This record gives sequence, C-alpha cells and structure tokens, in this order.
Amino acid sequence: MNDTSAQTDPNSTPIITMEGVVKRFGETTVLDHLDFQVAKGEKVTIIGPSGSGKSTVLRILMTLETIEEGMIHVAGKPLWHEYRDGQPVPASEAHLRTMRKEMGMVFQQFNLFPHMTVLRNITESPIHVLGLSKEKAVRRAHKYLDLVGMTEHAEKFPSQLSGGQQQRVAIARALAMHPSIMLFDEPTSALDPELVGEVLTVIRRLSEEHDLTMLLVTHEMEFARQFSDRVCFFDKGVIVEQGPPEMLFTEPREARTQEFLRSFM
Ligand code: ADP
Ligand code: MG
Repeated sequence: MNDTSAQTDPNSTPIITMEGVVKRFGETTVLDHLDFQVAKGEKVTIIGPSGSGKSTVLRILMTLETIEEGMIHVAGKPLWHEYRDGQPVPASEAHLRTMRKEMGMVFQQFNLFPHMTVLRNITESPIHVLGLSKEKAVRRAHKYLDLVGMTEHAEKFPSQLSGGQQQRVAIARALAMHPSIMLFDEPTSALDPELVGEVLTVIRRLSEEHDLTMLLVTHEMEFARQFSDRVCFFDKGVIVEQGPPEMLFTEPREARTQEFLRSFM
C-alpha cells in the first residue's frame, strides 16, 4: 500500500532515513514498520488523523521517544545506535546529545521557560549546550528575533506575549541552536485563529530563505499546499500515500486519503 513512486529524488542526499521503524506503547503499535526518507533541504508536511503517529515520528527523531525495531539515520549517523569496534550498540547519552544538535523542534504548546525573558529563553541553550560566549549568544539571539519579528519584545516574559508571539520566540529559540533539521508539531493548533497567520508567515519565510530541512505536522492544508515539496498522509502508523502537494491534494489515489481530505472541505 505504501506509495513508492513519489519517493525522494534518488540523486538527492537523504538527511533522514527511517527503515522498518516499529514503535509500541504497551499493546498498541503506533508505528508499524515505517519507512520514511527526507532529502537534505526538503520541506515535508505530514498530515493524518489524530492518533496516526505523526507526533511520535517527530518525537523519535528528537530522541524524546525510543524505538523497538528498525534503523534511523540522521545526517549519515545512526540515531539510536552507535558503533563500537564496528559493532552496533545502543546509543549512549553522549551520542544522543550529539544527534540532538542536528534538530530543532517547535511544539504545539510553545514550551518557553516562563521565568526567563525572551532573550534568555533564546540564549540559554547556545550558552550551556553549545558553549557560546554570552556576547555571541546574545548577538545570535537578536538575529533570530529579527527574523521572527520579535526584536522589540526581547526583555519581556512569555506571559506578557500573545500565543502567536510566544510561538515565534519558540521558533527563534530552536533556530539559535543552528539545527540542520527543523521539526514543527502542529505549531498553530493551539493558537486563536487570528494569530495563525503570523506564525505561518515566519515558517514560510524560513522555508524560502534558508536551506533548512523542514518537517511540519499540520492541519493547515492551504499552507501545506504552498509550503511543501512533498506531503505524506499517515494513518495507523504507516504512510498511506505521499507525493507533491498538487498531486496529493488534487488527485489522491487511496480511499483513506480521499476521505481524510474531504473532512477539510
Ligand atoms: P498524532 O500526533 O498523529 O495524533 P501520536 O503520535 O501522538 O499521534 O500518537 C499515536 C498513538 O500513540 C496514539 O494512539 C496515542 O494515544 C499513542 N501514544 C502516544 N504517546 C503515548 C504515550 N506516551 N503512552 C502511551 N500511548 C501513547
Ligand atoms: Mg500529534
């Protein structure tokens, strides 16, 4: 049932490769031998019903969840394994820390540190995880605050900001770690409708002006159509169908995709 015709261009370098990934929570199989590839610089949107495993894919990549079976490589390195004397062994905490630096994630619920100013939210990890000097981290923070249009709010606390502003800070915070892959898990789902646009505008600008690899889970179908190189429809832990947005949204082949998309019209 997996659609292989729309796979990543074989000439492009994959930055994410998931092969036969199985994820279970107790008796529930959430990812069922998932194969998924993302090319360097590709903008991929994941759509699908609630509970289909979309967040789990991003959380596994972010090393927030382990896997039961399968292989994952990110930027040419195994994610959940490492090699000692040529033998695969479970990844050590040090290896996971290295791998985490490849990825930045933006969550539905912003997750800013409430007791820190906007500026400190952004400088904290570059200083303590990457070892940047305070001056360099502050300079870097201002660059990304400018990119998300939040420069004048640098000294405020999260509670003084709207949801859309908090989410833009969360994006700047992730970018300040200089990840090669950005993961967005329904970044606008918790926002009042009038605030959705400002966050999508930032994500679009990022996609146009940076060669970041981007993975976006969203229900904003019109945005997905404009943003994506490829759209993947997930259901029950597998990719039912995938392809360029003009194909997947206009002439979906699978009944399950058609039914899902109809609920948005
Ligand atoms: P989606 O993001 O597509 O809505 P998720 O990836 O969040 O789906 O969840 C997929 C399935 O895994 C759901 O059935 C959910 O209830 C289950 N699940 C997710 N996280 C956990 C967890 N920590 N413990 C138990 N079940 C979980
Ligand atoms: Mg989810």
